[in-house]
Amino acid sequence: MKAAVVRAFGEPLVIEDRPDPEPGPGQVRVRVEASGLCHTDIHAARGDWPVKPTPPFVPGHEGVGLVEKLGEGVTHLSVGQRVAVPWLGKACGRCEQCLSGWETLCERQINTGYGCDGGYAEKMLAWADFAQPVPHGVTAFDAAPLTCAGVTTYKALKVAGVRPAQLVAVSGVGGLGHLAVQYAKIAGAQVAAIDVTDEKLELAAELGADVVIDARKDDVAEVLKRYGGAHAAIALAVNEEAFTAVNSGLRRGGKLVMVALPAHGTIQVPIFDTVLNGTSVIGSIVGTRQDLAEVFQLHAAGRTRVIHETRPLASVNESMDDVLRGQVKARIVFDLGVGR
Ligand code: NAD
Ligand code: ZN
Ligand code: ZN
Repeated sequence: MKAAVVRAFGEPLVIEDRPDPEPGPGQVRVRVEASGLCHTDIHAARGDWPVKPTPPFVPGHEGVGLVEKLGEGVTHLSVGQRVAVPWLGKACGRCEQCLSGWETLCERQINTGYGCDGGYAEKMLAWADFAQPVPHGVTAFDAAPLTCAGVTTYKALKVAGVRPAQLVAVSGVGGLGHLAVQYAKIAGAQVAAIDVTDEKLELAAELGADVVIDARKDDVAEVLKRYGGAHAAIALAVNEEAFTAVNSGLRRGGKLVMVALPAHGTIQVPIFDTVLNGTSVIGSIVGTRQDLAEVFQLHAAGRTRVIHETRPLASVNESMDDVLRGQVKARIVFDLGVGR
C-alpha cells in the first residue's frame, strides 16, 4: 500500500510502498477512501510544536474509509463499514479527564498521524473504540473534513457557550473556519467572519456570515466594537496578530477561544482590560467521540455544507504549499482511489 511519509522535519513528504499494517487486539484496518489535509499536518511535518512526532511517520487525522480487517476482540464494527479515524486515536478511558467527559484532555492519549501513523495512506490502523462510524448518506469526502475541522469548531462553540443572538467572530475561514461559520449560525448567533483573501470572505458570506471583515485593510477590533463587540471569538488563523485583534474586539464578558496553533505562538493579554472587562481566554482541542457523532448527525440531516477540493495523494507537497499560500477551497481532501 502507498503512504505519504514525513522522513525529516521540513523536508518534502515521500510516497512509499509499505506492507499492509496488521491490526492488533482492539484495532481495525481501514481501506482509506478519503483523507483531509488539516493545517495541523503541516505543523507536524515541519516539527512546529514543542511536543513533536518522531519521523518517519504518516500524517493525517481526517482519514475515512471502509473497515477491511478486524483485530482480535473487535465485535462492534463490521467489515465494509465506513468509519472516520480522528486525531483522538485512543484515550486511556480510566483517568479523571476520560471519566468526566474530557477524553480529549487525557494525558495518555495517542494522536493519529502524530503519535501513530495516520490517514495519508491507502490503508491505516485505528483503535476500534475510537473509530467513528459514518452515518449512511454521508460521503467519505464530506466526512473527512468533518472528522477534524468539523468536530474542532463544533466543540469550540460549545466551549464558548454560544447562545442565540450573540455575536461570534470567526477569525480565519479556512478548513476549520468555513465550518465554524455554519455551526455558529446553527447555534443562532450573528457571525462576523474575518480573513485575508477575497475568496474566503466571499465563501463566508455565502455560508451565512452576517459581517465580513478583511483583516488586510479593516481594523478588526474596531469593526467588531461597532457591533458592540464579540461575545465569543474563535481564533482559527495561524497568525498571532489575528489572536490579538479578536481579543481586543471582545465585548465585556466575552470569550477568546484559542484553536489555531502557530509555531512558538504567544500573545500579550493586557491584564487591566481582561480584569475590568471580565473576558476569558480558553484553549480548545478537537472534540470527543460524542461531539463527532453530533457533527455527523448534523451533516446527515443536511444542516452543514463541506467545501472541499479533491486531489491525488501524490500532490501532497504542492497541496501543503497551496494551503500555506491560502490558495485552496476551504479543505483539500486526498482521493485514495477507492471510487465514490
Ligand atoms: P487553514 O490554513 O485552512 O485556515 C486558516 C485560514 O486563516 C485561511 O483561510 C487564511 O486565509 C486565514 N488567515 C491567515 N491569516 C489571517 C489573518 N491575519 N486574519 C484572519 N485570517 C487569516 O487552516 P485550518 O486547517 O483551518 O487550521 C487552522 C489552525 O488550527 C492550524 O494552526 C491548525 O493546526 C489548528 N488546529 C487546531 C485544532 C485544535 O484542536 N485546537 C484542530 C485542528 C486544527
Ligand atoms: Zn486537524
Ligand atoms: Zn484518560
